[in-house]
Amino acid sequence: MSGPERYAQLRATAKIRERPLFSHPRSFGELELQARWFAGDFGNAFTGTQGEAVEVVQFGTWNREAGPDFSDAAVRIEGGEIVRGSIEFDLTDQSWEAHGHATNPAFDDTVLHVFVEAGGRDFFTRTTRHRQVPQVRVDPATLPAAFSLNLPLARPGRCHAPLRGQPEEKICSILEAAAQFRLQRKAQRLQRLSELHGKDEALYQELAAALGYKQNKLAFTLLAQRMPGKLLRSRPNEIEAVLFGLAGFLAAPDLATFARGTRQYLRVLWDQWWPRRAELERLIVPPRTWRLSGTRPLNHPQRRLAALAGIVTNWPGLTRSLGKDDLGPVRKFFRDLAHPFWNFHYTLTSGPTAAEMALVGETRITEILANVILPWRQWEERAVWPDFARLPARLTNRRIETGAARLFGDDPRRPRFLRTVAQQQGLLQIYEDFCLQDESDCAQCPFPEQMQKWS
Ligand code: SF4
Repeated sequence: MSGPERYAQLRATAKIRERPLFSHPRSFGELELQARWFAGDFGNAFTGTQGEAVEVVQFGTWNREAGPDFSDAAVRIEGGEIVRGSIEFDLTDQSWEAHGHATNPAFDDTVLHVFVEAGGRDFFTRTTRHRQVPQVRVDPATLPAAFSLNLPLARPGRCHAPLRGQPEEKICSILEAAAQFRLQRKAQRLQRLSELHGKDEALYQELAAALGYKQNKLAFTLLAQRMPGKLLRSRPNEIEAVLFGLAGFLAAPDLATFARGTRQYLRVLWDQWWPRRAELERLIVPPRTWRLSGTRPLNHPQRRLAALAGIVTNWPGLTRSLGKDDLGPVRKFFRDLAHPFWNFHYTLTSGPTAAEMALVGETRITEILANVILPWRQWEERAVWPDFARLPARLTNRRIETGAARLFGDDPRRPRFLRTVAQQQGLLQIYEDFCLQDESDCAQCPFPEQMQKWS
């Protein structure tokens, strides 16, 4: 039995409900739910409010016109013919009435109304022509953990003492199996995204999310979903301007407020963005989606956005490097991304730096390799584990530290269990599968006993 299969067996004892447990239910914003709907996180097969089978065959595109949220979608009801049209996603069923969609002809081609909350009385979604639109209610509580959540640091758990008594090789073997399992899950996610949106778009969306990690993952995901890479590449001279415009970073028209070097750079972007602004206005990411403070200046989303523009502009170079056997060419691709303005600026409003800065630093490259490129190769059934296992851990986060505190406590070997990205990923998987599923303060968690049987 392979490592991931053995881990899957160990995990099966944990009564996994594919969702984290929190003392306070998490509330989601409409935009995040729409992004996760589009990413297929709710799945694509549903039971409608009338008990009918509803299959979303095509999730369409984020709509840039007045009208429903997603256009060019396709659904199949009760296994019948495919019906094409738009999908509207609301927080409540009654929003359809409250927002005037029932009397707005722009919503006449809606083929599916998705919502989260249903009101007290039956509500039927109808168009201006009194056509009844199938409804699907989705439950955010079924969503897997993602878009990173903050959890409190913790005290050592019940597994801490038995783990302390285990040989290092055994603990590393469990971590490795859990990491391989996680890698397979990421590959499956990419496969699912590819089935929904095509291979190139899946890769582009995941790269965008990795550049947004972690504070701006949602904003970057929305950007990539709303402006497909293929569409961007069809007008190569405008890629950066359109991305910055859609991000809402080109909203202030007063150039005089900027330093001279920035003014010149912005003038070029604005000249390209303004003629397209009216056409794309509806797709602009709302300012509240961005987290502009609290990130290290080097990681400011404006720099990361410039990196995304560079990736899209050099897309053939990226796909060529992905075809090579070793990771060297992909690493070089990201290291070589350069920008005359962003190599010397933290933000649009900061002055130039004395020293040149990499557009995508080594830490981010490692994270992109671990979370996008290697899962991508795994999905293509290429040998990835030796490369993955070698990636050094460059970054930690609250989740990893919490998991380490619970499982390893003050074990002096603790740093040795977290030296590589693979070990960190394995720990995260165990933490999510066991700690986040546990409601008994460790008492009923099966991990301590199951882990001891691991050979
Ligand atoms: S919930 Fe399970 S895995 Fe987590 S700390 Fe407690 S015993 Fe260990």
